[in-house]
Amino acid sequence: MTPRGGGETTDAAAALRWLVAMGADEAVEDAPRDRLSAPPPPRPAAPPAPRPAAPARSPPPSPSLPPSLSIASTDQLVEEARAAAAAAADIPALAEAVAAFDGCALKRTAKSTVFADGNAEADLMLVGEAPGAEEDRRGLPFVGPAGRLLDLMLAAIGRDRDSARIANMLFWRPPGNRAPSAEEIALCRPFVDRHIALVRPRVLVCVGGVAAKSLLGRTEGIGRLRGRWHKFAPDGDSEEIAAAALFHPAYLLRQPGHKRQAWQDLLRIRDRLEGERPDS
Ligand code: URA
Repeated sequence: MTPRGGGETTDAAAALRWLVAMGADEAVEDAPRDRLSAPPPPRPAAPPAPRPAAPARSPPPSPSLPPSLSIASTDQLVEEARAAAAAAADIPALAEAVAAFDGCALKRTAKSTVFADGNAEADLMLVGEAPGAEEDRRGLPFVGPAGRLLDLMLAAIGRDRDSARIANMLFWRPPGNRAPSAEEIALCRPFVDRHIALVRPRVLVCVGGVAAKSLLGRTEGIGRLRGRWHKFAPDGDSEEIAAAALFHPAYLLRQPGHKRQAWQDLLRIRDRLEGERPDS
């Protein structure tokens, strides 16, 4: 017979394996909480006996909540993000404004705010989708498996993190790496636009379909957006920036057959940065 302590260890290991198989990839709290032994929720009270109908009256005005308790709408939060982004005079101030912004609920489940990496004065800026698990742990964009491939892609055109700026559409990891919602993108977008306007690269690369559709304002998929030049106009800045769309390295890891097209796109980006005439 298994001694009691050993049996408990085996049970715990089996439970952990089951949780991992079900998709759990983070410990949310330090100490476990046994929800099965928690007291049952209170039963709903019996409905009150019907009362004689009162004469119709107009409803009393709803009391307004103090500002600290009122719930802001997405539009109000986007406005708040716009104001905070516009007030940031430089990149350190923008990084602080992002870290101080509490309007995106993802911040509550993420470990880090992932703002950017690389050279803020580079002529090449890449914007991806959202931090993954490793990015969330380290607080830097593109440092997981996809990031390692992105570094190789940059190296193929003679670039690295000292000669490129790297950021994402979202500053916080969506739980389980799910796709970002339109609302999350809208809430982070003013900071992304301000970041691009402050870096003012010669070439902006939208890494993957989420960044490409959102930044280029298009509905086509990445397969149609890649392979040609687009224009990106940062808010309040009349001069447009040349923009390209690139297959996301995470996609290339799953579909290596598309690396040839990605390579062509990288060469086009390199030529543009080296001052050759755009081909389209
Ligand atoms: N994928 C992204 O789009 N961004 C990261 O930072 C990491 C993976």
